[in-house]
Amino acid sequence: MVNVKEITAYLISILPELGINKQRELSRLIYEIAKRDHLPVTEVLQPQKNLSFERAKKILLQKRYPSSFSTAPKNAFYLPKLELDPAQRADLTPHTFSPKDIYIESSVQDSALARRARKMFPQAYFHTWDGKQKVGSVNFSRRTDTLLIHQEKYDFLKPCPCSQGNAGCGYNLINLGFGCRFECEYCFLQQYQNLHAILLPANVQDFLDKIDEASFRKGPFDRVRIGSGEFTDSLVFDELTQYSQDLVPFFRQRPHLQFEFKTKSTCIEGLLKQEGAENVVVGWSVNATEFIREVEHFTPSLTQRLEAAQKVAQAGYRLGFHFDPVVPFKDWQKAYALAAQQLADSVPNDKVAWISVGLLRFSRELKKAVENRFPENWILDGEFMLEFDGKMRYPEKLRQEVYESFVPHLKKLFPKAVVYVCMEKPKICSCSF
Ligand code: SF4
Repeated sequence: MVNVKEITAYLISILPELGINKQRELSRLIYEIAKRDHLPVTEVLQPQKNLSFERAKKILLQKRYPSSFSTAPKNAFYLPKLELDPAQRADLTPHTFSPKDIYIESSVQDSALARRARKMFPQAYFHTWDGKQKVGSVNFSRRTDTLLIHQEKYDFLKPCPCSQGNAGCGYNLINLGFGCRFECEYCFLQQYQNLHAILLPANVQDFLDKIDEASFRKGPFDRVRIGSGEFTDSLVFDELTQYSQDLVPFFRQRPHLQFEFKTKSTCIEGLLKQEGAENVVVGWSVNATEFIREVEHFTPSLTQRLEAAQKVAQAGYRLGFHFDPVVPFKDWQKAYALAAQQLADSVPNDKVAWISVGLLRFSRELKKAVENRFPENWILDGEFMLEFDGKMRYPEKLRQEVYESFVPHLKKLFPKAVVYVCMEKPKICSCSF
């Protein structure tokens, strides 16, 4: 792993006059290049006659952003201070979900969810939560040690937060839970979640009660789409929550709506226990096999996800797939074409309702979280730059290239499904929708 002290010492040795801010910018660039190219620091920027800060920065930017340096606006390069803290490294030791402390809000002590938690985790310490006392770990990696079962009072239903300037798809969300037991290196929760625990609401009926009276966006789809899974995986805790037992019958009676579970898990027992419904879509986040293995820690493989998809399709549900995030790593065309073919070979084509595609994008704050939790990651090695909506994205040309080749490919494989691009500028892909 590249060492920050080593970079600073080297920089001082070749550019002794640098002020602190200039030193930070160059350190950041040296770090990112050395990590990406597996180079010793001394080879990233070699000493040379009359080397100035401006010259050094230009050399380093050219190396770090070889395809976009000459065209990108200068303020698109994001060079935050390098702050690497080994204590934040993610714990990738395999473990099962078995919370040590379970807090239950006083008002839902007798709920079915609280009763199930007592039965499933008899070894845990149970506490009554008054809504005020502090819960959770100081360390995000220890979030599954704490489970909080609460009564949601405010956050029931909302439009999917597509950032400004993006082409929306009219998605609507109910947030059944916060926190996840998987460890995807790109997960925005590692930077967004400030209560390091798993939060599960015990009052699902209150969420459902809001639906009949709500007005929804429909977007370009034939029916309103409502989903869950913004702040958690929709099914990963279903054995405990059994939300599927309330959601499926509720939506089956409302064929004018479509509901989507979004998951990477294979926790489908709750779905298989009951008859499927045409307007209930089980949406799997999918990716290239090697990407899943190296980046989405603790998640089932593509083959396992597709086996689960096959079973729920047989049970009468429809399917959704989300190639998100797509990362154009070396040989990405081949890897993603293989994954798409595996999908087409595994599930009944006419059961696929929609497929979305979205390239990796993230907030600038997430960048530091990822490099601290996964110091050996390669997902940040791409040429990410600050874009129109304040997010870090690949250069537009590359995004366009990926969408224009992969979206038509998926449309050919799944002619009946709606294939669309997620969270992008309206004009980035002529073939979306
Ligand atoms: S499955 Fe989703 S919520 Fe869970 S860690 Fe991965 S990205 Fe985050």
